[in-house]
Amino acid sequence: MENTEKKQPLVQVKNLCKYFEISRKETLKAVDDLTFDIYKGETVSLVGESGCGKSTTGRTMIKLYNPTSGNVYYDGKDIFKYNHAEQKEFCKKVQMIFQNPYSSLNPRMTVKDIVGEGLKQHGMSTKDADAKVEQLLATVGLNKDHMSRFPHEFSGGQRQRIGIARALAVDPKFIVCDEPVSALDVSVQAQVLNLLQELKEKLGLTYFFISHNLNVVYQVSDRVGVMYLGNFVEVGEKEKIYSNPMHPYTQALLSAVPVPDPTAKRERILLEGSIPSAHKPPTGCKFHTRCPKCMECCKTQAPERYEVDDGHYVYCHLYDKERRKQQK
Ligand code: SF4
Repeated sequence: MENTEKKQPLVQVKNLCKYFEISRKETLKAVDDLTFDIYKGETVSLVGESGCGKSTTGRTMIKLYNPTSGNVYYDGKDIFKYNHAEQKEFCKKVQMIFQNPYSSLNPRMTVKDIVGEGLKQHGMSTKDADAKVEQLLATVGLNKDHMSRFPHEFSGGQRQRIGIARALAVDPKFIVCDEPVSALDVSVQAQVLNLLQELKEKLGLTYFFISHNLNVVYQVSDRVGVMYLGNFVEVGEKEKIYSNPMHPYTQALLSAVPVPDPTAKRERILLEGSIPSAHKPPTGCKFHTRCPKCMECCKTQAPERYEVDDGHYVYCHLYDKERRKQQK
């Protein structure tokens, strides 16, 4: 996922792999050789079915997991080679908003302690931390009275606002948003997405957004990466991906998105079979077992990356010009 402008990325992910040993003989390749950049002020999103490796990518990028191989650079420095001081600074600059606001907040802590914990960890006095918590709650649409309450006293949307306030507490520059609205009602989803958008502009944030919901991704993203079984299948600017999906998997996903026009006629592409297990992925193109356009070569050869438009990349043999010339 590369931006065409020649500027220094804020985050660079290079050949990132994260494998989990599930038995002596079996390895689950959750993330398998991902490379992409994120530029300051952008929202880059990952979209794909559950289990395709989106959350593992986000978690590895903020060091919740160690990678099996590959590198992640923040501001040009490898985050896995930080010294103690650099690590402390990284913890302030990079934060995460978690998927489920019902389980990601400690039920035994008050909002004041949940949001203020990071501030105190970084040496702020209790008095200053309390003042900052009050200010943060106002920023996310809550108020001073909420400080002494516990998470169970809030609605889902309010809880996610507390999670956002916690992430903002240490003045981060880069936030990984892992399915931040998927556990919320649709009406509340829009409010939280609007809040995230406002905060991005007001505070100059950069987001890495993870979701399985293509409508949500369209609303928030600048660039999008579509994932399947640990790999990218298509990456590019949002408008290009949504208006002209090139990979058969992206085409199938987008054909299933509901449109708010009952008279609109669209051809739904139904994928056969279920998503294969990531510990025994198919050979060649990992999508070949479900692809309606599968060719013989797809079963044995993994496709390379082909640029089909400026900054729009597809991983599919259909776009291999040399192969098509030979077939003519
Ligand atoms: Fe389908 Fe082959 Fe393209 Fe994979 S490489 S998406 S199997 S056409």
